[in-house]
This record gives sequence, structure tokens and C-alpha cells, in this order.
Amino acid sequence: MLNARRALVTGSTSGIGLGIARALAAQGAKVMLNGFGEPKLIEALKKEFPAYSGADISKPEQVHALVREATEKLGGVDILVNNAGIQHTAPIETFPAERWDAILAINLSSNFHAIQAALPQMRERNWGRIINIASTHGLVASPHKVAYVAAKHGVVGLTKVVALETATTGITCNAICPGWVLTPLVQKQVDARAAQQNIPLEQAKIDLLSEKQPSRQFTTPEQIGALAVFLCSDAAENIRGAALPVDGAWTAQ
Ligand code: NAD
Repeated sequence: MLNARRALVTGSTSGIGLGIARALAAQGAKVMLNGFGEPKLIEALKKEFPAYSGADISKPEQVHALVREATEKLGGVDILVNNAGIQHTAPIETFPAERWDAILAINLSSNFHAIQAALPQMRERNWGRIINIASTHGLVASPHKVAYVAAKHGVVGLTKVVALETATTGITCNAICPGWVLTPLVQKQVDARAAQQNIPLEQAKIDLLSEKQPSRQFTTPEQIGALAVFLCSDAAENIRGAALPVDGAWTAQ
């Protein structure tokens, strides 16, 4: 379905981003990976995805360079998935200002810079798919996640504006809002809970899910990848400016 398409997925050396990269590649898209990792992991991923960049997307100039490099290596960028993200949890009184700045830069501002860099060529071809990975925390809040929740609400707002500005074109912009997906980002929160409460990891997982996600199941990166593929299809051409929850009924409550 995506044979002629070229995709850039930020933060795709792990978790959801890698799931999306693999799902797009399975449909025939040429995909450029981005993100960090141990040299061994990057070498292995490069065998699967020859186009890779270690650009640090907290830096606006590196985001622009990343889009330029993807355009050169793939021949263009038709699909942009803004996925890279980090987390830090603490009450606001002790939340480090440096973590606030980093989360806003990586989880929100990078989306702005990447879209600004990629949109002109999408407009020239009158086709594009921009998919921003927000979160349930783009729709509702939880304590101790002030920067993450602010950034993800920002991503949902940014998504709506870009969708309006491209509404009469062949370019769509949407956000996916996952609940809990068991990736390294969430594993850290499971580990912290197990340590704090002195409970086994399996119990910490169950508690984490029970608190927020009524289905009591983690979503998988493959399931998010399949939704991204659908958003790239012709059937999805009039889904615009949406913030699509994949959250086991978390935000239905
Ligand atoms: P992850 O930690 O498994 O992967 C994060 C990726 O981002 C990695 O490839 C990492 O190298 C990359 N990255 C981090 N900082 C970067 C930087 N400065 N420049 C370039 N790349 C950078 O996390 P994940 O759970 O797969 O999260 C992916 C996205 O999904 C994030 O935006 C996250 O907020 C969002 N999300 C995750 C969940 C979840 O439950 N896991 C839920 C909702 C939303």
C-alpha cells in the first residue's frame, strides 16, 4: 500500500517509534530511523533500515538537518511521524526546570520544527501524512507529570492548527493518543513503582494498569503501528485534526 512513500519516524530506535517504522516498512514504505541507542543496537537496526540518523531532536537546527538528510537519502518525505519523547515524574515544587525544558523541546517543539521543515515539499506534491504521537496525557492529566502533560496537550493543539492550515490539501495531520504501552519509557515507571512499594514487577504492572486503563491490557507498539498505517491510507484522507485515543477506555471515564 505504501510502496512509493518515504517516511521519517523520529525516536524510532525503540518502543512505539520502532513499531511504527516496522509497520510502515512492511507496507513497502522507505523509512528513515532516528534516535539513540547502544552502538550494537544501532548497527543491528541499520541492517534492517539502512537510512538512520542520530540527530538530537531537542535542537531545532538538528531537526531541520534531519528532515534535509531524510529528503536526500529517501528522495523525499511523504510521511512524517513525530514520535520521539521522554518522561520525568516529580511534584511541581521539585520538578527540575532543566527537565521541563528538555521535555518541552523533545516532546513538543521538535514537532513544530519538523513539520515546518517537511511541509513545503508535501505541499508541492499535494500529498502528505503527519502523525504526531501525543498521549492520553494530551487529553487528560495525572499528577507528577507537569511537563509531559503540558507538552502533550500542546501536541494536540499543534495538530489541530496544522490540520486546519492543510484542510483543503492532500496532506493530513493527526495525533495518536496511546494509554499505557509497555516500552522502556513505561518500564522505568513500573520499576520505580515496584521499588517504592517493595512489590514484584508483575504486581507493579497490574497496579499501573488498574489505576488508569480499564482494559487492564497494555497496547502494543504493533497496534500503534497498524493505526499509523491506516492513517496513511486513502481511506483515512478525511480524518483531519483528530486526537485518536488507543487507551483501553482510559479517557472514556
Ligand atoms: P521509548 O523510550 O521506548 O522510545 C523513545 C525514543 O525516542 C527512542 O528511540 C529514543 O532514542 C528517542 N529519543 C529520545 N530523546 C531523543 C532526542 N533528543 N532526539 C532523538 N531521539 C530521541 O519510548 P516510547 O514509549 O516508545 O515513546 C514514544 C512516544 O510515545 C513518546 O512521544 C511518548 O511520549 C509516547 N507515548 C508513550 C506511551 C507509553 O505508554 N509507552 C504512552 C503514550 C505516549
